[in-house]
Amino acid sequence: MPRFIALIPAAGTGSRMNNELPKQYLSLAGKPMIYHALHTLCHSSHIFRVFVILAPDDHEWNRYDWSSFADKLVVKYCGGATRADSVLNGLKAMQQTDGSIDKDDWILVHDAARPCLTIFQLDQLIDALALDEVGGLLAIPVADTLKRADSNQRVMGTESRNGLWQAQTPQMFRLGLLMDALSKVNSAAITDDASAIEALGLDPRLVLSDAYNFKVTYPQDLALAELILQKKETN
Ligand code: C5P
Repeated sequence: MPRFIALIPAAGTGSRMNNELPKQYLSLAGKPMIYHALHTLCHSSHIFRVFVILAPDDHEWNRYDWSSFADKLVVKYCGGATRADSVLNGLKAMQQTDGSIDKDDWILVHDAARPCLTIFQLDQLIDALALDEVGGLLAIPVADTLKRADSNQRVMGTESRNGLWQAQTPQMFRLGLLMDALSKVNSAAITDDASAIEALGLDPRLVLSDAYNFKVTYPQDLALAELILQKKETN
């Protein structure tokens, strides 16, 4: 039976956060941000291992205690210049670390900056895709009206939102397919894993998620993420 292995690329700097500390380490509900996604992934009975991919010069990781995740967590300092490079380097490191990991095992790539992922969303993704030919991702239909802007921030036109979805993570593909896809793309031109699979001519499946699994990107997002995490704890 194929296994489910999570990979968190966490080698970014989070430049839109205007903070010297990389985004994944910003304090959120008393923990570094990446702790929350790790907690969900490591506590899922489906997930066999969780790989975290850090920048080669990361000096933050070792400042924290990760021992509560020790039975599943593997940390690799092999992040690259882009998210796609970090994921591909991580997949190669994963194979070198554990020779039993097979090309048919499922890889769930999850952004460190999506701390509000729930076990329910994770289960929905795995249940929907475990028998899928291609794989897919959590996503939500676009709710707002979409405007295209010119360089003066004036509206050039209104885009139809019909059929448009916002991609989230985890994005779930088989190891062999994902490595093949990522090794063929221009990594600077893509911002998620599904784009690389699409470039092979395949159609990843969209699995309905919700807005709680949003990506913390701007400073004001931290307060919203804290509220969601507090709500999760009281449920
Ligand atoms: O910058 P953005 O929010 O799109 O990053 C998404 C995820 O990709 C984050 O978890 C970030 O740490 C990771 N990343 C990475 N290596 C890079 C750039 C981003 O692992 N070179």
